[in-house]
Amino acid sequence: MSRPFNFSPGPAAIPEPVLRQAAAEMLDWNGSGVSVMEMSHRGKDFMSIQAEAEANLRELLAVPPNYRVLFLQGGAIGQNAIVPMNLMRGRACADYVNTGEWSKRSMVQAAHYGRVHVAASAEANGFTAIPTQREWQLDRDAAYVHICANETIGGLEYHWTPDTGEVPLVADVSSNILSRPLDVCRFGLLYGGAQKNIGPAGLTLVIVRDDLLGGALPTTPEAFNYAVQAANNSMINTPPTFAIYVAGLVFRWIKEQGGLAAMQTRNRAKAALLYRALDAGRFYVNRIAHADRSLMNVTFHLADPKLDATFLEEAKAAGLLALKGHRIVGGMRASIYNAMPLEGVEALVTFMKDFEARHA
Ligand code: PMP
Repeated sequence: MSRPFNFSPGPAAIPEPVLRQAAAEMLDWNGSGVSVMEMSHRGKDFMSIQAEAEANLRELLAVPPNYRVLFLQGGAIGQNAIVPMNLMRGRACADYVNTGEWSKRSMVQAAHYGRVHVAASAEANGFTAIPTQREWQLDRDAAYVHICANETIGGLEYHWTPDTGEVPLVADVSSNILSRPLDVCRFGLLYGGAQKNIGPAGLTLVIVRDDLLGGALPTTPEAFNYAVQAANNSMINTPPTFAIYVAGLVFRWIKEQGGLAAMQTRNRAKAALLYRALDAGRFYVNRIAHADRSLMNVTFHLADPKLDATFLEEAKAAGLLALKGHRIVGGMRASIYNAMPLEGVEALVTFMKDFEARHA
């Protein structure tokens, strides 16, 4: 059976070999006689699944030993509040860089826990370019500096790592983690929902530097207290076991593909192909500054929006799914995470050229 190409922004496509393995092991994981969904999170079978997942993730990202990997729940939206609960540590304010919808969502939550200082904002350019660090006005006393590493809705991505000196840098990496190598030690904390490049929704990944643990507000729920979860192997409560298992299969798959350097090479090639097609004429328009274009979420508009519905219908009929842009920005969005093969992008580009030839 050949499957359509799924350009969903998230929950997003999962590598087919991973889906096949999960299906094959659904009724009986490794001779245990039960599904991963049915086994105790504290039993040796699941403990081995989680340990392997963490070890492979650490290897892929070269996570230094003084960082803890936490497998939590509550999504990135949950982290928007959980980060300040844990990291304000008695300070009055946190710096936020506003590059779009997900940055804004983060700031709204953080404002419940302290003063949000907007160190820089892309609002003036219509969220089409990331403010360069020269334009940032950081507060030296801020508890941390928060960025959204890839704005999934707008299609804007950092291709550089900000320098925040002694102030910990916190990044929402929901939609670009594992798409390329990352220098973890430049960050105090990384967080993201799993449902794009990691695996099924329900798992939230946090990678946090040791020295940032232990200062949570006393009212922090224990399930969301990083120090408590770190001391309990992310098992102060039942973790999202099946999602962790599938994430572990995805980590293995990435390793088999050649790791994050190989992912980066592929992702660059896919994005270059698509942006080249968008830039080739006037029928399709991408509004993002070239240097800040996302390699994961390619947003574009048809010059004539009256054709939007036809474009989406015909794309679907051609086996190209979920290309509708987010309602806030409209137009189209092709999400081309790790699991999207080059052939999927080639098929999309072929379709787009054909559509233009028939409708221009
Ligand atoms: N941040 C970013 C960058 C996202 O792409 C998303 C989800 N699309 C979120 C936050 C929200 O994540 P969740 O739904 O896992 O809470």
